[in-house]
Amino acid sequence: MIKKLICTLTLFLAGTPALQASPSTPSLSPAATVWSYEGKGSPEHWSELSDEFQTCKKGHFQSPIDINHVIKGNLPPLDMVFHTQSESIVNNGHTIQVMVKDGEDFLLDGQQFTLQQFHFHTPSENLINGKSFPLEAHFVHSNPQGEVAVVAVMFEEGEVNPQLETILQKLPKAQNKVEPLEAVIDLGAFFPQDKHYYRFSGSLTTPPCTEGLRWLVIKQPETISKAQITAFQQALKHANNRPLQPLHGRMIVE
Ligand SMILES: [Zn+2]
Repeated sequence: MIKKLICTLTLFLAGTPALQASPSTPSLSPAATVWSYEGKGSPEHWSELSDEFQTCKKGHFQSPIDINHVIKGNLPPLDMVFHTQSESIVNNGHTIQVMVKDGEDFLLDGQQFTLQQFHFHTPSENLINGKSFPLEAHFVHSNPQGEVAVVAVMFEEGEVNPQLETILQKLPKAQNKVEPLEAVIDLGAFFPQDKHYYRFSGSLTTPPCTEGLRWLVIKQPETISKAQITAFQQALKHANNRPLQPLHGRMIVE
């Protein structure tokens, strides 16, 4: 199970290879696992696309969720350590993703989680008290055992975000083309000063919807300009938020 999870996540962290098969090849088997947000490959059909995607339907700890009815747990604010990093960037048709070599880390449950990549969803996948945001960033971390913790940051419309602007300017025009990201990204600038967060158990929000992920959603949103929201929407060409999933008795702690 652990090995399978690591394997799955290696694929996931490597940037979602499902669409790397040539779209002009009308081959039956690889095409069967192509998932998307629209049409035949849309979220309600994910479990029909592959045996590997059964958790998308059968799982009871699926993401995203609407964060409400929160239990007070006095969670300490995240203590994140940011490093200078080198990266590459890809628009893989599912998301805009930045791969990092030496990103940022933090301690959670006494273990060190290190950033592997971050990517964006527009509109947001998780909601906070029923509220949707125009953009949600997912910072995907793993510990040495391959367990995953996602730190999510919401963005609301307001001031321009200079670090997001750097990413938007470097965005490859062609999909599935991995480009080096030569600019140094100040990861700290993506996070608000106040790093209090909601915590719950969940899953990947994309196939194979693997469960057992630690989710931490930062309460305080950052800002993004209207033009930046439009730029993300145009680059992705479609919304990339999976619909809300039932809680099934899960608790959300703050
Ligand atoms: Zn995501």
